[in-house]
Amino acid sequence: MKRIIKVKSPFTLAGIWLWCLAGFFLILLCNCKNDEQKSITNNVDKTPVWFTAKHLNSGVWRISDHGYDNIHLVLGSEKALLIDTGIGAADLKGYVRTITGLPLLVVNTHGHADHAGGNYQFDKVYGWAMDFYLSNNYNTQYYHDNTIASILKESPELEPVLLKERGVVNTEIIPVREGFVFDLGNRKLQVIETRGHTGGSICLLDSVNRQLFVGDTNNEEEWLFTSVSLPLDVYLQTLEKLNARAAVFDTLFPGHGGRIDKSFISEQITCVQNILSGECAGEPFNTGHALFCTYKRAKIVFDPNRLHSPN
Ligand SMILES: [Zn+2]
Repeated sequence: MKRIIKVKSPFTLAGIWLWCLAGFFLILLCNCKNDEQKSITNNVDKTPVWFTAKHLNSGVWRISDHGYDNIHLVLGSEKALLIDTGIGAADLKGYVRTITGLPLLVVNTHGHADHAGGNYQFDKVYGWAMDFYLSNNYNTQYYHDNTIASILKESPELEPVLLKERGVVNTEIIPVREGFVFDLGNRKLQVIETRGHTGGSICLLDSVNRQLFVGDTNNEEEWLFTSVSLPLDVYLQTLEKLNARAAVFDTLFPGHGGRIDKSFISEQITCVQNILSGECAGEPFNTGHALFCTYKRAKIVFDPNRLHSPN
């Protein structure tokens, strides 16, 4: 059943600042390795553009949110599914309409600011309710104003393409759990709960086309050290869960960086096991108390004080 979720905000003024700082931190320091150009200007009139898109294969578009993150658009015969809404700085809804006129479903892979920050542009957004406290916090005018201000400070030339006003917003946030299916007509995407990066992270599996849309669950540089990440042993369970289903997908479509083959999950598992066993003690990451270990293509950034779940 669909229902409107309203999360009561527990935020004091100091708390709001902390959440905003955390969001800006994620946006500005995120690992934004995109294999597309970071969008500079429209070739015709030289005005700046925010989004660029690449048709990957079989009805899958990857939209670059100006290099901050990947937004995926999956086209079916009857509906389209928008996977994540980016940081919400520009008109994503309008941009999607330049690609498809199909009825649109929207889902968040998790609640971080760079994946759910544009929820306010859509009437309905699906996600795992565990992360609604995050996505709701990142969809306030206060947060939006600060996002726009920080972008303008860095890149004032982008002013024409930024949405300075969010307009009247009443987004319905709809909870989904493990096994929920987005039916697009000739293709279906199933929700897999993948706790770790956040408590409410999900992946979306299209087993017919052998594609797994992973959000921030399987980035080459995987952040598991933030205050909303879960202990590392929980993330290991998630990786093992995905690996157990690897017979039905080949390719991962992450929220940052390019596509990667499914053997990457095994590399992440080894990397995490090396951390939990103490074989890899970790090197200092470039912020705070976090450490990182690597194994082949995998880089896991973790909190050394949160390796194991409390008994
Ligand atoms: Zn994230």
